Amino acid sequence: MNKYWIDAHCHLNELDIKNILSKKIKQAKKSNIKLFLSSALCESEYEWHKKSGLPNMLWYAGIHPVYEKSDLKDLPTIIELAESKKIIGIGEIGLDTRDFDEQKQTDLLLEQLNIANEFDLPVIFHIVGKYYELFKLLKNNFPRVRGILHGFNASQKITEIFTKFDLTFSIGCRFPKLEVLKFILKYGNYCFETDAPYQKPYASVDEFNHLSNLLVPINFIIQNLNIEREKLLDRQFQIIRNLFPQICKTNNLVC
Ligand SMILES: [Zn+2]
Repeated sequence: MNKYWIDAHCHLNELDIKNILSKKIKQAKKSNIKLFLSSALCESEYEWHKKSGLPNMLWYAGIHPVYEKSDLKDLPTIIELAESKKIIGIGEIGLDTRDFDEQKQTDLLLEQLNIANEFDLPVIFHIVGKYYELFKLLKNNFPRVRGILHGFNASQKITEIFTKFDLTFSIGCRFPKLEVLKFILKYGNYCFETDAPYQKPYASVDEFNHLSNLLVPINFIIQNLNIEREKLLDRQFQIIRNLFPQICKTNNLVC
């Protein structure tokens, strides 16, 4: 089987400026990055994803806890997208310390978790500084949740408690500390993401993050944790395929 790297979380619509998107996708394909799971956060972004016609993209939709264009009024559209099977998951949704209206955030998250539950879809979580709150909320309401903790970077203790759920740690350019990475790799539920154009590597002087930077955490792990490239390639492929079986129906891709 021909395996390839999968970017589990990016924002392709944000790269669709000045014709750079096709260039960036071409550049990524040279590194065997062939599938992009893109995150749509508001009505105009849902429309962009519906119309884009990109053969190597699948997408999910959600109301982000702090993104200014995300709005509660988009909930019916998300239900419609889930019902018509246009999206492969609900997200990114979550909790973020940058918004102080905690109750509003929690209610919105619960509502979207209900939608994911009803349509049996995986969830893509965006969590900033509120992992313990998420843990409690899932334990009490959705212990059988499945999905991805996107851009995961937290302490060893938090990482350990989240193995209680069927969740995958998605590792980006701003990856966690070495011992946490070691733990995640041993645990085995991991995938990789760029979150492009956001979350560029700390040392990068570029204007934004590139899709080809998916290899930044991968190369770091290979060099520092003595793990074979082939093993990482196999594992992330298997994890994403299990979570999103739709990838096997995507044009030009082999499963
Ligand atoms: Zn994102």
